[in-house]
Amino acid sequence: MFWPVVDSTVQTDVQLGVGAEEGVDMAIVRAVSHTDGERRRLALASPVTGLPIDEIDVDGGAEVQLAVARARAAQPGWAARSIGERAALVRGAIDVISARRAEIAETIRIETGKPMAEALGVEIVPACDFLNYWSGRARRDLRPHRQRLHGYLRPFKKLHIQYQPLGVVGVITPWNAPFVLTLNPVVQALLAGNTVVFKPSEVTPRAGEWVARVLHEAGVPEDVVQVLHGDGETGAALVDSELDKVCFTGSVATGRKIASACAARFVPCTLELGGKDAMIVCADADLERAAAGAVYLSMFNTGQVCMSVERIYVVESVAEEFIGLVARKAAEVRYGPGDTDMGPLFWDRQLDLVARHVTEARAAGAEILVGGSAEAGEGLYFQPTVIAGADHGMRIMTEETFGPIAAIVRVADEDEAIRLANDSRYGLSGSVFTKDPARARRIAARLTTGSVVHNDAAVVYGVPEAPFGGRKDSGVGQVNGVHALRGFTHAQPVLIDRWQPKRESIWYPYTDKTIRDLDGLIRAFGNRLVRRLLS
Ligand code: NAD
Repeated sequence: MFWPVVDSTVQTDVQLGVGAEEGVDMAIVRAVSHTDGERRRLALASPVTGLPIDEIDVDGGAEVQLAVARARAAQPGWAARSIGERAALVRGAIDVISARRAEIAETIRIETGKPMAEALGVEIVPACDFLNYWSGRARRDLRPHRQRLHGYLRPFKKLHIQYQPLGVVGVITPWNAPFVLTLNPVVQALLAGNTVVFKPSEVTPRAGEWVARVLHEAGVPEDVVQVLHGDGETGAALVDSELDKVCFTGSVATGRKIASACAARFVPCTLELGGKDAMIVCADADLERAAAGAVYLSMFNTGQVCMSVERIYVVESVAEEFIGLVARKAAEVRYGPGDTDMGPLFWDRQLDLVARHVTEARAAGAEILVGGSAEAGEGLYFQPTVIAGADHGMRIMTEETFGPIAAIVRVADEDEAIRLANDSRYGLSGSVFTKDPARARRIAARLTTGSVVHNDAAVVYGVPEAPFGGRKDSGVGQVNGVHALRGFTHAQPVLIDRWQPKRESIWYPYTDKTIRDLDGLIRAFGNRLVRRLLS
């Protein structure tokens, strides 16, 4: 194996910039030795070849402070532009992406080794769709509007709601879909009138950087959207700076740190974290589709998708046929460099974790039907793997694996599938394969997950109308959905007085008449007809 399995503690040292010596460690991200007083540098290697591809300067506290100060200074000017003007500038990024799609895809592929179909289909197509959708919605969602009041208030007051930008938003993102997962929150925050400082993952800095480049080229001013580079230290410095909101996508462990840092300063944050999504295959499922879906949805993007299928529960009556189909289809997945279906893991740390989960499952008695090991030779390739007979206690069934593994468990019936699916600390998404949409909805109602998809999985993040977010350890808050843009604002109610009397009847002095009026109001609520009039 060209790639040494990297101990997770060494990786932590690398993240902190005090670990591996230059030229010794073959990690995807490694610290470059530097002299005192110099900025830290990280060297990046290709997950396909192991060869060096780039180096980045790590932005430290000083650079973070400067970027946030520039963002703060630029924010009033950006917010003063009309929503329509902001939307037109942001929408212009679609033309830039369209013109430069080959370069963007190439950057993504250099850093991740994704097949071209995934660079385009997972990253660039949804990015264009998000840009188009959010810039089209901005005016409708963000313009001030009047809200009709109910009942006895209506004759006296008028309610207006206006959406104030929060100020400076910090966005921190992971490496598995570095372009689209950065672009989506950045664009929403900008349209809402905020300025943004974002930090892409240290594994995919240039793919993330493209988000700033396409927006700048479309005419969004430099200080309105800025990129910082670095690892966890840079991310932590950004979270600790003077931000008005943090939008984080990444692991549960980092999410916890960010949640407590934000809580200490009452800074709102949304946390889009990991998952262990279950797929339930009912007895009436189209087994051809379910098996093809099980393979694709657990393995696309090399399984490194927060909402990919990580656990499959199939009811006993169709299990034999389903498992056979999955094994056959998984064996046909072409993986490796070049024009294949599946690329490498993007990070040696991830390859190590996937290998550990599979090895443990095998040792504990699970049956490896297809694949099951890291591929010898250059590159971080792990074989497309099908595991049957995994036990609910194994880490392959309880912890996020984030690799190309279809792990299947037979269950007696749908009730058992639902019980096992819910018995997890995660609650991101889930899927139900059945020919009956009503059954899918009934099962969905019993799943404690942020979303549920029928006869498919993972796609829900790409549906901007759908509020997206995890339950339990999978996150706090939601992105997308009807309240997405408003989530980057403060909804300010402004209550307008209609008649401007000298005093309100409830104001001082309290008299017998005050009491009689209030008492009359309570008694009026006792009348069903009045109740209807007041609702
Ligand atoms: P990670 O938490 O290690 O890193 C995510 C980002 O946070 C990176 O930019 C990293 O540099 C930064 N970071 C690390 N430590 C930090 C700290 N202390 N303070 C601030 N920032 C810090 O996660 P990862 O390995 O990059 O991403 C994989 C994880 O992301 C998986 O768990 C996956 O499920 C999750 N994910 C979730 C979603 C979602 O929408 N729910 C989407 C994609 C990925």
